[in-house]
Amino acid sequence: MHRIAMSVPIVEINGDEMTRILWQLIKDELLLPFVDLKSEYYDLGLEHRNETKDQVTVDAANAIKKHGVGVKCATITPNKQRMDEYPQLTEMWKSPNATIRSILDGTVFRAPIVINCIKPTVRTWEKPITIARHAYGDVYMATEHKTDDAVWLTQHNNLASIRSFAKACFEYAIESKQDLWFSAKDTISKIYDGEFKAIFEEEYETYKDRFKELGIEYFYTLIDDAVARVVRSKGGFIWACKNYDGDVMSDMVSSAFGSLAMMTSVLVSPDGNFAYEAAHGTVTRHYYRYLEGQKTSTNPIATIFAWTGALRKRGELDGISELAEFATKLENTSLKVLQEGTMTADLAPLTDSGFNPRVVDSWEFIEAIGKNLQHF
Ligand code: NAP
Ligand code: MG
Repeated sequence: MHRIAMSVPIVEINGDEMTRILWQLIKDELLLPFVDLKSEYYDLGLEHRNETKDQVTVDAANAIKKHGVGVKCATITPNKQRMDEYPQLTEMWKSPNATIRSILDGTVFRAPIVINCIKPTVRTWEKPITIARHAYGDVYMATEHKTDDAVWLTQHNNLASIRSFAKACFEYAIESKQDLWFSAKDTISKIYDGEFKAIFEEEYETYKDRFKELGIEYFYTLIDDAVARVVRSKGGFIWACKNYDGDVMSDMVSSAFGSLAMMTSVLVSPDGNFAYEAAHGTVTRHYYRYLEGQKTSTNPIATIFAWTGALRKRGELDGISELAEFATKLENTSLKVLQEGTMTADLAPLTDSGFNPRVVDSWEFIEAIGKNLQHF
């Protein structure tokens, strides 16, 4: 069978637990039969991070800088409990995502995968809403203080970080051909939020022409106005938020759209590198059931979409349209299987009344996608 050739490798970053099992399954069943996959492989499984004193995480991030596109499996961020579970760990290694983010200087964009048989809680939403969260500073790095009669707070942000955030948002809007909204509270916070607004406006000058060409729009509005508009909107845009707003609003948006297992995530750096992943973690509880010999019904959709995001981007960058088309085909096939009622256990309770889903395990689900993919 003809397999699609690639020219530049994708930086493939493997991870932990149940998502590591799904990773291999997705590659074996949905990618390798169709694509002559070229990848530069980094094993960020916790044991290997420990063996390399976490150097492998730094190497993986630098490889994304070199090649431009990475795909990452969920990884364990060790905490006290994990130190007991993995006694060989010599250190409580930092979150790989935090390490990669700091090396790439990126902004994280999260978008739900929407299907017809699961209706968002907000009736007007027809298309996904992508949240772009500035993940630096503000209240997350604040100093707090209490005196006899008051409480005090000092917070900061770096102008360079705000500028990177703005650039990443404009790049992503162009890349995904969607409108960009940015909201803050500059009427009250005239200097602090005022600076965010001004930097976005300044940066927009550089992107204005490309926005016009694509027929997309950028606008700034107050956070309270944004919230009111979002709830009345049809969706289909990017909502750039300051750190705290993004923290709160991304949980609101993801739960209103359905499930964390259907949420994609991509880290975009201001100089145009892309790292795709699922928004969920390693699904530890399922992994322990898997180790006991059970076939779990873990949802692989967000991990499949991390791969398709990376493959499509590689196809676009390298001018291999067949690769980009394959990525879209794999996404559409996965959605078709869901839409026809075959799904994992997490989604079944979310479907419309009258819809009769057939709940399968991850192996059966991926097999169903693979079969459909051949006949697409
Ligand atoms: P989690 O892995 O996202 O899982 C939490 C629960 O959400 C699961 O137990 C499961 O619920 C449900 N769930 C999440 N993804 C699912 C999927 N694909 N299919 C079906 N159900 C899904 O979060 P966690 O348990 O808090 O974290 C586990 C590990 O992941 C931690 O070590 C953490 O450090 C790591 N983590 C990594 C990343 C990352 O690499 N980006 C992000 C977050 C967490 P039920 O058990 O009720 O079925
Ligand atoms: Mg939150």
